[in-house]
Amino acid sequence: YKNNIIRKKSNLLLRDKNNELIIAKEKAEKASKARSEFLSTVSHELRTPLNAINGITHLLLEENPKKSQLHYLSSLKFSGNYLTTFINEILEINKIESNKTELENINFNLRELLKDIQNSLKGIALKNNDVFTLNIDPNTPEYLLGDPTKLSQIFLNLINNALKFTKDGNVTTSVKLLSLENGKATLSFAITDTGIGIPKDKLATVFESFSQGSVEINRKYGGTGLGLTIVKKLIELLGGEVKLESIEGLGSTFSFALKFEVNELPLDNEEKQKP
Ligand code: ADP
Repeated sequence: YKNNIIRKKSNLLLRDKNNELIIAKEKAEKASKARSEFLSTVSHELRTPLNAINGITHLLLEENPKKSQLHYLSSLKFSGNYLTTFINEILEINKIESNKTELENINFNLRELLKDIQNSLKGIALKNNDVFTLNIDPNTPEYLLGDPTKLSQIFLNLINNALKFTKDGNVTTSVKLLSLENGKATLSFAITDTGIGIPKDKLATVFESFSQGSVEINRKYGGTGLGLTIVKKLIELLGGEVKLESIEGLGSTFSFALKFEVNELPLDNEEKQKP
């Protein structure tokens, strides 16, 4: 709130002192709005036919295709899924950047949320022969108020990356309670892996859109180069800041801290909605 006032005040100063600057700012805002609307329209228009392509590919794959057809259909399925992820990520970034993302504030169980994510990614851990660990500080309050969907998105992206870039190694998600005061808990989260690491000269840019390690890494591991952009923006939206420490060849740690209201008497969200 305080920040807003300061920002508003500085806008006023800008208006008083230098009219040209204000005009430039308004132009930039208009251009940004037009860009955002264009991106949103194009992405939505692409999504409808893509859903048809994905759906029909799925049906054909279920009809016992011949070996040669299976090869083409699998390739079609991969490309369809890639494009779907890509379009959804563009829409997501666009939504956050145009301040259209709304935050939920509901009761959730952090331990359950993290366990569900671990379970959903178990297959990748198994495939890559990774030791997959979840370390939760026993003092962490069980029930919190916040936005579990955004939080899941952040963890899914970071843990998925950690597993993807780690073969025969360790991927650990840890939660530490930093403070518990006036019904508010500050928690620090870290996702650590012993994978390929990130070169020093790439550390500053991995959070930028379409930034990927290198052509070879991209070819080998796939991906859109948008996941970390979304992670950074979502963490900031929740009031935190993402930090990255990584050594090429040794592994990476992505960490951030967030504050939550503690829900002492957890009510089932469905219960709450009952009349
Ligand atoms: P992608 O979809 O390509 O994985 P991200 O935005 O999630 O896109 O990541 C951007 C790039 O950062 C990746 O292509 C990879 O080079 C690097 N990266 C992200 N996480 C890790 C990690 N845990 N270990 C090594 N490199 C990583």
